[in-house]
Amino acid sequence: MDGLQADNAGVGGIEDNDEERYRALAYDTALSTLVAVAVYVVVKVSLDGFRQWRARISVLIVGSGPVGLTAALVAVRSGKVLKLTVLDERYRAALLCRPQQIALDPRSVKFLLGLGVDFDNMEGCWHSEHFFTRIGVFQEYLLSILEQKKLKVDVKVQLGTKFTEEYLRRIQRTQWPRVIVVADGSCGDSCSVLGISSDYSVESCHAYGANATIERLDQRQVPTPEIRAHRLYFDLSAYGVEALREPRNPTAKPGFHLKIYGTFRNRYMALVCPASDTKMVRFLRHTANASIMKNIFHQSFNVYKTDVEPRLNDVTLHHMQCSRRLFEIQLSHRRISAAFIEGDNVAVTVEGEAARVLNFDTGCGVNLGMRGLESMGTFIYRTATAVDQNDILEALSAKMQHSRQVAETFKQTGLPQSMYE
Ligand SMILES: Cc1cc2nc3c(=O)[nH]c(=O)nc-3n(C[C@H](O)[C@H](O)[C@H](O)COP(=O)(O)OP(=O)(O)OC[C@H]3O[C@@H](n4cnc5c(N)ncnc54)[C@H](O)[C@@H]3O)c2cc1C
Repeated sequence: MDGLQADNAGVGGIEDNDEERYRALAYDTALSTLVAVAVYVVVKVSLDGFRQWRARISVLIVGSGPVGLTAALVAVRSGKVLKLTVLDERYRAALLCRPQQIALDPRSVKFLLGLGVDFDNMEGCWHSEHFFTRIGVFQEYLLSILEQKKLKVDVKVQLGTKFTEEYLRRIQRTQWPRVIVVADGSCGDSCSVLGISSDYSVESCHAYGANATIERLDQRQVPTPEIRAHRLYFDLSAYGVEALREPRNPTAKPGFHLKIYGTFRNRYMALVCPASDTKMVRFLRHTANASIMKNIFHQSFNVYKTDVEPRLNDVTLHHMQCSRRLFEIQLSHRRISAAFIEGDNVAVTVEGEAARVLNFDTGCGVNLGMRGLESMGTFIYRTATAVDQNDILEALSAKMQHSRQVAETFKQTGLPQSMYE
């Protein structure tokens, strides 16, 4: 009996041992699976991180205007660019001698400060938190920063080089850039070289405007703050238009808004009013008599100019050129502002006036181009670290969406901010 009990006890003990062994085995298996998964995740994350950290691409920028050069600065500062090529069809002297002044608004100033632009080291002047400088001074400054970055990034600036099909053909297939930024201005045709549609959306800004320029070679070409005047009315009674008897549109800011900007040598004027159908506006929109607009600009200049610059008189009036009549202000923006060239694996984005342009000069048009560049750093990062084509397409889609948003925001608030306030 005792032996049998002992035997049974032995069988029970063996079962217990087996169960324990199975449990230990299951525990070991689970633990080693967990460790393997953890090691896999850590290795993958580190490899991805390493790949992302190492990822560097080659970028080509077409156009060395203020927008193209700022895009170049964004590219070199992104830390994701190995080789940067910047082109312009103009030679250095022609590129830097343009007479217009640019007015950087507070948002553009903040954006540029973030890119390391040192306004204390640039010829220009501040007024109402805007920075005014000559376009050539700004471009020269950016070219000098790019020069300094040559130690870290392979930067090539090719001035006097036009972007054409021939230029592209000369690049070896293996050397093609991964990103092309087209910033060739409102008259450039680089998009067509790349097969990008030149279809534009043209949208009304619900305002009418006219521009004038005065060139006086005996005056100074130094940065000068802009002058703004609001709620202007013109006496057109000599032409049979009695402005004061007209009902005014209560929702629109009444009257005309005037801006005088540029240097004393190259003065520009912009006159704008919210769209309305008053007798005066109708008259100024359709008049065939070009001297009426000229008179308005002439008188306005003499009233609002700075004290230190000479008045326009009948003798000097021929220095002025202006719109013949008021026209509707329209914003044109490309329907396709970003594209992927399949086969060559190139992502293209269109920036500045090549992407969106007004038919009216507000005197601070460059800011519209700067807005588009606010998404450039992320776009370069996403393209450089893309694992596959889908990632690149997503980056392009986000870029295009941002470009549309820039145009939409301008349509809603751009003119009021640049002219009415
Ligand atoms: C008369 C006038 C007055 C203005 N006044 C003001 C002002 O007071 N304040 C302000 O903020 N803005 C002003 N602007 C607007 C301002 O000049 C523009 O907003 C700004 O220049 C646009 O910059 P961008 O770089 O997009 O184009 P752009 O400055 O036009 O630069 C494009 C560059 O691309 C180059 N290019 C073109 N095609 C090719 C090609 N195929 N290959 C290589 N290179 C090419 C061109 O040579 C050019 O240098 C004024 C504009 C004008 C016309």
